[in-house]
Amino acid sequence: MAVTIDDLPAISVRRDLATKTAITRKLLKAIKANRVPAIGFVNENMLMSNGQRDARRVALLQMWVDANLELGNHTFSHPDLHRIPLDKFKEDVIRGEEVTKELLKAKGRELRYFRHPFLHAGNSLEIRRDFESFLRDRGYRIAPVTIDNSEWIFARAYDNALARGDKAQAKRVAAAYIPYMDDKFAYFEQQSMALFGYEMKQVLLIHSNALNADYFDALARMIKKRGYEFITLDEALTDKAYTSPDTYAGPAGITWIHRWAITAGKGEDFFKSEPRTPEFVMKEAGVESE
Ligand SMILES: [Zn+2]
Repeated sequence: MAVTIDDLPAISVRRDLATKTAITRKLLKAIKANRVPAIGFVNENMLMSNGQRDARRVALLQMWVDANLELGNHTFSHPDLHRIPLDKFKEDVIRGEEVTKELLKAKGRELRYFRHPFLHAGNSLEIRRDFESFLRDRGYRIAPVTIDNSEWIFARAYDNALARGDKAQAKRVAAAYIPYMDDKFAYFEQQSMALFGYEMKQVLLIHSNALNADYFDALARMIKKRGYEFITLDEALTDKAYTSPDTYAGPAGITWIHRWAITAGKGEDFFKSEPRTPEFVMKEAGVESE
């Protein structure tokens, strides 16, 4: 499976440089230790301070490039395609290319992948197709997700507990994180079997946050225990499952497995028993619904 990591350089309830630097260092260390050819998706607005490009924040991205990891575009400011006009959204994509392109170019690499914020890919087929041809024209390939999850809720709960100095609660959140992810993997493996009759090469979505900085090692161990090898996004996308028809154009930010299943005419029954985030994690994160 391929590991894709969104919201680079780092997303945290704390926005200071020291926090983001610590997250980046720890996360990259764990990625390297587990030899994961991950790809990171960048929001370049997080490279700015006071309206100026901040070299110290750009240096965080440089650490990813120096670790020989690929970077993709996740828009400049993480807007929602379902809430702003398409033209404005396209402008944000273009604005989100500048620094990442430069850093990759210096390494002889190109900016090749795009990841939709909120996995919102267009709520009408017309908008979806228009945006997809825009991406193609700019040389992008869409980075799909097959194992989506509410790791971001665990991460927010973890941050909140730590910000309050409640280390025991942070530990409880982290202890629930890995089993929750294990259940999510089982669910999407089963969905792949039900839809295609085999276990496809999966694409996991997680974020660059303190929870993964501290627990990516444990997550990688769980993934290996399930029998996976880590591969690049390029390799994952060679699976023929990714060429399945997809005409979904609804409001939901859902996985591509969901999109293919809906397109294939699967009913609600097909999606039942997706694992839920524990109540205490939702509450600690201050999130009402997943
Ligand atoms: Zn994001």
